[in-house]
Formats: sequence, structure tokens, C-alpha cells
Amino acid sequence: MQFYIPTKVFIEDDCVASHKDIFKTYGKRAFIVTGRHSSKINGSLDDVTTILDEYAIPYEIFSDVEENPSVETVEKAAEQGKAFQADFVIGIGGGSPLDAAKAIALLINNPEETGEALTVLKDIKALPVLAVPTTCGTGSEVTGVSVLTYHKKQTKGSIPYRIYPEIALVDGKYLLSAKKSIVVSTSIDALCHSLESYLHAKADSYNRMFSSYGLRLWGEIKDLLHSPGPLDLATAQKLMMVSTVAGMAIAHTGTSLPHAMSYRVTYKLGLAHGKACGLFLAAYLREYAKNDPDLVNEALSFLGFDDLDLFDAFIRSLMGPITVSEEDLTSFADTFLANDSSKLGTYPYEISPDAIREIFRTSFTLA
Ligand code: NAP
Ligand code: ZN
Repeated sequence: MQFYIPTKVFIEDDCVASHKDIFKTYGKRAFIVTGRHSSKINGSLDDVTTILDEYAIPYEIFSDVEENPSVETVEKAAEQGKAFQADFVIGIGGGSPLDAAKAIALLINNPEETGEALTVLKDIKALPVLAVPTTCGTGSEVTGVSVLTYHKKQTKGSIPYRIYPEIALVDGKYLLSAKKSIVVSTSIDALCHSLESYLHAKADSYNRMFSSYGLRLWGEIKDLLHSPGPLDLATAQKLMMVSTVAGMAIAHTGTSLPHAMSYRVTYKLGLAHGKACGLFLAAYLREYAKNDPDLVNEALSFLGFDDLDLFDAFIRSLMGPITVSEEDLTSFADTFLANDSSKLGTYPYEISPDAIREIFRTSFTLA
């Protein structure tokens, strides 16, 4: 067994302000990496810049991180960060800005490197990264993972470096202005992380402490995801807790088949990350249950479902149907089998190409 999460985590109301001294600890020139709009609306960017202004810490902002950030965006931001001579990076936003911040911190600290460095592991280190998450799904604030889009390969993938944020400041209040669709989709991502980690080939009792807790908490809030009303602060904090705890679980194991199957689907269909992964959950659990029904039932019981059919119906109604053509469906399965079979090692049992095709086939609705 192993245990390693070097990130210091605060999950509290107003934790950015109450731990403001942290911003003096990691450097003298801050490079803020964020998305295009949301951090300006939900208060997270203001909370951080107010503190930097108070301490007279010079900063620059890169606010052009797109969903599923590309290597090209990371390179562009790193150029700005190098010119500014930043010595620490603050990621604010969903998983996209947080993942981008990690890769940008690596390139700023190694000015001789280009985006190519993001595909080959070298003995180089990133600048310190501080993370302020504003979605409730990826757990990127506690993982070393940075997932980028590679347009040349028409897919996404993790860079080979593990860049853990030094600090994670997790506050549910930033979720309160989010559209329900973003809350739902990112919560499904956290659900995937908990389940995939619980059932992973590398699962052990340490990661299962985190994933089972994440599943129980998700079970407590799942009905609220269906309700049309706005979130209250207590629920928002709980959603953030699920996300961070599920991130701690995958920090140990990594993710498994639903994530691996999602990457090309996200690229081709432009689906939100959580939806693209959640799409495969029920079919993945059905396949898994052929080998270990008790473990699947245990995970479902943490979530408050008596059986897999109820879980399947719940997830489908939360996400709505995702429709593809027969041709796309075949192409997703073929491409996965041809290029992504290394991901099968995350699944603890033998799985045939036919079983993989079956997961793809039963997860989508055919046009
Ligand atoms: P995201 O791509 O970061 O953001 C999705 C959308 O939500 C954007 O339009 C964003 O707007 C908006 N948004 C963010 N916070 C908001 C808030 N508080 N209120 C209103 N809108 C808000 O979504 P994500 O699902 O969190 O991240 C997905 C990325 O994380 C994917 O690239 C995925 O591969 C990666 N990921 C990483 C890990 C890891 O361990 N590192 C794990 C799972 C997934 P703006 O663009 O205006 O900010
Ligand atoms: Zn994910």
C-alpha cells in the first residue's frame, strides 16, 4: 500500500481570505491562470487578487483557458508567464484552468522547453502551484495530473509529470453562481472518480477510504442534483468535499475505463468531461459485476442504490440521452481498441474486445 498526497488542503467557508498568508509563502510574482468568464463572476478571482494587492505581490492574469485545455494554450500562457518572470502560479477555476496551471508552471520554470516537454518525461520541475477550484468534479486541486488536448492526435491525455498543487483552497461558495448543468456534469465526474478508484486494479484500503467516503457523500446529495432549485451553501460545500475526496482517491489509483473511453468521445462530440465519463458508468459496472458482483453491489449500496438497474436509470435521467450514429459508435470502439488498450491494465480482469464494444454500444442512444 502507498499513501502520497503532498497538497495542503483547506475545505472551509471563505478559506482564500482566512488563509491569505499562504500567498506570501510560495513566491514574489504570481501568474494567475483561469477560464474566460466564470472566475470573474463567482468571486474567486477577486478574492485572490484582493489579497495579492494587499500584500503588494505583483501578478499577471492569463484568462484564456478553454474547456479541455490544449497544449497550444498552455504554451501561449507559459510565454506570458516567462516574460512576466513569474515564480509561482495560481490556478483558479474548473479542472481545465487547474490542469493548465500545472503544465504552465512546468514550462515557465524551464524556459528552454517547448510544448514537446509535455509529452516526454524529463528531470525537470514545475513552479509552485496554488489551486482554487470552482467546479465540483475533477479534484485536480489534490492530484498531480494534468490532462491536455492534443489536437494533432485528436484526443486528450495526461502529461507524464505529476505536479501536485502546494495548496488547495476549496470553498463551495464559488459554485453558487454555476448553472445546474455544470454542477450536475462535474458532480458526475466526481462520482466516476470515486467508483473507478474503488474498483481499480490498483485499489487498496487507503484509496478505498477516500472513494467509499466520496460515494457515501454523493449518495447524500444525489437527489438534490435532480431538483430544479438553486444550490444552498451547505450543499455546495458538500459537493466540493465529494470532488476533493474523490480526487484524493484517484491520486492513488488513477482513473479507469470510463475515463479512458471518454477522451475521444469528448474530442469528437464536444461533451462536458463529466458527462462523457458518466456515459459509460452503468455499462462498465455491468461488465465488472460479471466478475465481482459483491464489490459492485457494495459500491452501489454506499450510493444508496439497491441494484444496478436503479443506478442506470438514475444516471440516464440525470444526463439525458447521448445520441451518436452507428458509424461513430463503431469508430469510437475501434479507435479505443487500436490505440488505448494500455488503459485496460486499470481493469482488474480480462476483458474481451467484444465486451468493450458492448460497453460502447449500450452506453449511447443510436441516432
Ligand atoms: P472546466 O472545463 O474547467 O469548466 C467547464 C465550464 O464551467 C466552463 O465554461 C467554465 O467557465 C465553467 N465554470 C467553472 N467554474 C464555474 C463556476 N463556479 N460557476 C459557473 N461556471 C463555472 O470543467 P471541469 O469539468 O471542472 O474540468 C474538466 C477538465 O478537467 C477536463 O479537461 C478533464 O480532462 C480535466 N480533469 C482533470 C483531472 C485531474 O485529476 N487533474 C481529473 C478529471 C478531469 P470559464 O471557462 O468561464 O471558467
Ligand atoms: Zn474526471
